[in-house]
Amino acid sequence: MTYVPNPARYENMPYRRCGKSGLKLPAVSLGLWHNFGAIDSFENARTILKLAFDSGITHFDLANNYGPPPGSAEVTFGKIFKEDFKNYRDELIISSKAGWGMWEGPYGDWGSKKYLVASLDQSLKRMGLDYVDIFYHHRPDPETPIEETMGTLDLMVRQGKALYVGISSYSASETETAIAELNRLGTPCLIHQPKYSMFDRWVEGGLLDVLGDNGVGCIPFSPLAQGLLSNKYLKGIPENSRAASHRGNGAIEEDAITDEKIAKVIKLNELAIKRGQNLAQMALSWILKDDRITSVLIGVSKPEQVTDSIKCLENISFSAEELNTINSILG
Ligand code: NDP
Repeated sequence: MTYVPNPARYENMPYRRCGKSGLKLPAVSLGLWHNFGAIDSFENARTILKLAFDSGITHFDLANNYGPPPGSAEVTFGKIFKEDFKNYRDELIISSKAGWGMWEGPYGDWGSKKYLVASLDQSLKRMGLDYVDIFYHHRPDPETPIEETMGTLDLMVRQGKALYVGISSYSASETETAIAELNRLGTPCLIHQPKYSMFDRWVEGGLLDVLGDNGVGCIPFSPLAQGLLSNKYLKGIPENSRAASHRGNGAIEEDAITDEKIAKVIKLNELAIKRGQNLAQMALSWILKDDRITSVLIGVSKPEQVTDSIKCLENISFSAEELNTINSILG
């Protein structure tokens, strides 16, 4: 049946400007790292993407290696795009990345021009797209000159294969260098994608200041610490959870669900309830409270999690007392 998107899809989602660029992103974006691979249910993936778009989520985030197996999330996305979203291309921001190991040999990893150019061509083919809206270098490469990696991002924009470019997991000082090089080339850095959650606050040690000062957007990944910052692990490890799935490719494993973490989750959960939220919603609101954050990048395994998570938007302000309580729980 032909998919007809919800006509009210733009009514409730705020769209935040990405740094000082012309682009706005939905306050909540959806990533396809896990649950969209060849090992996952195609129909579930399709239902999730349609529900997300119906809810005002216009940004879908991918990478060459998402799956498993690597590449298969882009294949799944490409099939769904062709079936359901083709007529809505101009309403969508689709991103991909390269920087982690993707194919064998010396040209399938890190940050060389050889790797990045080939990888983007492969991603476009898998997704059936003429261009991506944002292309990221996925992680810093200590061996390739930054001029080569940034020069390749600039080339992709000039070739029309990417509209904007970004970087992921670069430290504050690496980010400053990358921003300066991209400015010199005339292709500004649109956005940075760092890991950021209540359990991993490294961006507060300088990166957010660099991004704010330079007018570069920020879209944190793993805001729920892969599900740990929710009430799902309060009574053990559910069978259908990511931690029990052993999917590989960086997915959380059971040994990360420690008693120490759960003790904090219990206290955070109590505070969330006082705020009229569940813990997942509070963890997402807590990220969005900072106006240097453009969008929070969620991952979901079920359609209900889309609906549940975007309710975070109903309360994204925190009193000083609430913030102090969170800081003292986190220690
Ligand atoms: P999260 O930290 O949000 O974890 C997602 C998981 O949390 C879901 O699979 C689900 O777990 C659980 N969850 C989601 N919503 C709820 C809810 N409302 N209530 C309870 N549990 C919930 O994000 P991800 O780690 O998935 O990362 C998000 C995206 O960030 C990725 O898809 C990718 O696009 C990007 N990313 C980028 C990286 C980079 O290097 N640039 C690295 C990693 C991610 P369950 O499956 O158990 O149901």
